Amino acid sequence: MSTYTGACLCRGITFTLSGDPQAVFVCYCTDCSLNAGGPFQITARFPSPSLQLHDPENLKTVYTVTSGTVSGHPKEKHFCGRCGCTLFTVPLKHDREIVVMRTAVIEGGLERFRPQAELFCKRRPGYLRPCEGTEEWEEMPVAK
Ligand SMILES: [Zn+2]
Ligand SMILES: [Zn+2]
Repeated sequence: MSTYTGACLCRGITFTLSGDPQAVFVCYCTDCSLNAGGPFQITARFPSPSLQLHDPENLKTVYTVTSGTVSGHPKEKHFCGRCGCTLFTVPLKHDREIVVMRTAVIEGGLERFRPQAELFCKRRPGYLRPCEGTEEWEEMPVAK
């Protein structure tokens, strides 16, 4: 089984992921954009048991986004309380069965995990081109 490692910006929190992602998306929605401080986030969905966190200084902080989420259900944003780096989100509509990792915090993740689709393309800034070989969705694909 593949194993991946990663860390937050200050490296106070590190993690390993076992297995490969179920899906990889570019997302231009407002939450992703604000959270990234840029046009989009690239996220990879893993089953929750894949993720092993190492947080010896107890730095991990959780902010729950309760209103205005795309799914209509709350989602938890898990980030480092020291450096502010977001590591993953947990969409509560999936009963904590999945974690949505930012591929940027996975070592080599941006190159390794190629997005299969782009979501909320209607919010993509006019100066950016679509990713090569991805599906484009104006908003969110139905039933995802
Ligand atoms: Zn940190
Ligand atoms: Zn998004």
